[in-house]
Amino acid sequence: NIFVHEMPKVELHAHLNGSLSVNTIQELGAKLYGSKSEEFTHLSEQLTNFDNVDLGGCFEKFDFMHKLTSTRRGLHLATILAIRDFAKDNVAYLELRTTPKNTEEMSKKDYLECVLEGIVRGKELHNILVTLLISIDRSQSVAEAEETINIIPKFRSRYNNIIAGIDFSGNPNKGNFSDFKPVLEKAREDNLKLSVHCAEIHNPSEVDEMIEFGMDRCGHGTFLTDQQLHKLGKQKVAIECCLTSNVKCSTVAKYSEHHFRNIFTSESAPVVLCTDDCGIFNTTLSNEFLMAKKYFALSKPDMMKLSLTAVDHAFVSENVKRDLRRIIERYFDSEC
Ligand code: 5GP
Repeated sequence: NIFVHEMPKVELHAHLNGSLSVNTIQELGAKLYGSKSEEFTHLSEQLTNFDNVDLGGCFEKFDFMHKLTSTRRGLHLATILAIRDFAKDNVAYLELRTTPKNTEEMSKKDYLECVLEGIVRGKELHNILVTLLISIDRSQSVAEAEETINIIPKFRSRYNNIIAGIDFSGNPNKGNFSDFKPVLEKAREDNLKLSVHCAEIHNPSEVDEMIEFGMDRCGHGTFLTDQQLHKLGKQKVAIECCLTSNVKCSTVAKYSEHHFRNIFTSESAPVVLCTDDCGIFNTTLSNEFLMAKKYFALSKPDMMKLSLTAVDHAFVSENVKRDLRRIIERYFDSEC
């Protein structure tokens, strides 16, 4: 367990508002409201049973989190605390993702700037490399998505080494992928990488459409048919597997039946381990590796392979990848 905890890890699928643990939310609440306030007591009460979720319940938890991060101060602190928690788990490279929102206090532009500034500060404080994927929420309108995509160029030059790409996410039971294709195409033309939540629920025609559209990485991939998996594999699209998230949301019955096993052993497509929403699902990236070790007999060389695959598919330059590979290889050379 110490070996896994100390292992330098690469996290490619982490939603900001899902990544704060109960303790960290309390810490955030104490900072925002004061630990003796009524708001804080109320917040703490609401956190009982926080990680007890299904897919629908998970989206309710996000609404709860969104209230805490609807102010500049809350969002800035939350970004730094999330980064700190990943750094504590020895994540060497974190690709954080979040959906810019219009709140009472912030426009989408303010929201994005606040997260980017939080990332700059979090990196300074916690010795971790962090980039950002900007999320498009499929449950909202295409106009919302366009608004998000249109603000990105304003930040590209100032935060060029932080903005890495786009994530297509949100409640998979809502919205149609086809409506978002023009806006995603625009992002692609602007040289932004794309990770798509794909086959998270059973919807084979939408999955075909997503694969035909093309993506750089696939989030979840739970309901991919063998043929769809094969196509993604041929395109070298990595599947971001989130074991605990899928089991807790009941899209996968149990760890031992997780599709990670088949993809990893058959090598049908590149595959990586991720947390998704480590706060809401009460997990860490180390814990995801430990679950994979427990249920799929993951060996140390397997762990190294998974980490190096994550580096191969990270949305960063070749120079950064080379540095990350060196850090991982050095660890395994010294420990194995
Ligand atoms: P945020 O973008 O507000 O930082 O993080 C929470 C948001 O990420 C949710 O409201 C949702 O749009 C998206 N999200 C988080 N986890 C999942 C997931 O497991 N599946 C999907 N489809 N979207 C998710």
